[in-house]
Amino acid sequence: MLQVKNVTFGYSKTKVLKAIDFKVKAGENLAIIGESGSGKSTLLKLIYGEYDLKQGNIFWKDEEILGPKYNLVVGYDFMKYVTQEFDLMPFTTVAENIGKFLSNFYPVEKQERTKELIEVVELEAFANTKVKLLSGGQKQRVAIARALAKQPEILLLDEPFSHIDNFQKQGLRRNVFNYLKAKNIACIVATHDRNDVLGFADQIIVLNESEIIAKDTPQNLYKNPKLPLIASFFSEFNVIEPYGIVYAHHIKIVDKSDLKAVVKRSYFNGNSWLVEAIYNSGSIIVEHHIELEKEKLICLKVLT
Ligand code: ADP
Ligand code: MG
Repeated sequence: MLQVKNVTFGYSKTKVLKAIDFKVKAGENLAIIGESGSGKSTLLKLIYGEYDLKQGNIFWKDEEILGPKYNLVVGYDFMKYVTQEFDLMPFTTVAENIGKFLSNFYPVEKQERTKELIEVVELEAFANTKVKLLSGGQKQRVAIARALAKQPEILLLDEPFSHIDNFQKQGLRRNVFNYLKAKNIACIVATHDRNDVLGFADQIIVLNESEIIAKDTPQNLYKNPKLPLIASFFSEFNVIEPYGIVYAHHIKIVDKSDLKAVVKRSYFNGNSWLVEAIYNSGSIIVEHHIELEKEKLICLKVLT
């Protein structure tokens, strides 16, 4: 189990993280979400032991994670970290990069393990391609596979699929997160993409202004977002008195009601349309199955 105990940290006088406290069990998937600059990457770096802590402690099982003051080489065998700038060896192949840390004493095992991981990140066609010839997304996949090569007990992923295009993202996420679950590898994923989180995280931590402002399962946070910041992570939403935070798909257009609005514009949204309308002299967003014309008067019902 990873334990982050009352960690407060700043690069200079300004605090980036304040009194951060949480645990991650073996095999658990924890997502850290928050706006850009909220301290997600810093928290991962602290967990990895990149900086010395002045306040608080971090433990993996009984071992305290210590910073560069105590460790000549940053990092531990049981923990791997895929940064936002995955540093690979550009002049060697995908397979060589992934197998780099595997022992040459067991060539058959090394080859099989490398092959298995190449399949997890779907790079079979590029196994013998030099890394410098790959796209950003392909490099990101090599970095993930390499981090898994020696089967860590915990994996830290910083925006792990940010460079990967939408055509491949969803399948790759399922591969990687299913693999981690199957091998009981804990992971902490820093992200601002809801798709990295919704179907996969056991717990979510929301970082805002240096602090954890919410910690719960994806379902609970989604159903009951206490703050607009949390709702905004999941979906389009409105703040409507006296209901509070209401998702766009929780407002229905009905034949008759006292809540009247005037359509401003409709936006195609795949399965539905997002209709922007003027309500109470402000703008609201309503999800609807067809496009509606500008100036149309609509009646609304809030599902509660
Ligand atoms: P996130 O990953 O959520 O975008 P970061 O952890 O990268 O956030 O950054 C949190 C804050 O710390 C930001 O204000 C950022 O400018 C600052 N910061 C990040 N890295 C450094 C650094 N090496 N030195 C000084 N300030 C930093
Ligand atoms: Mg970051």
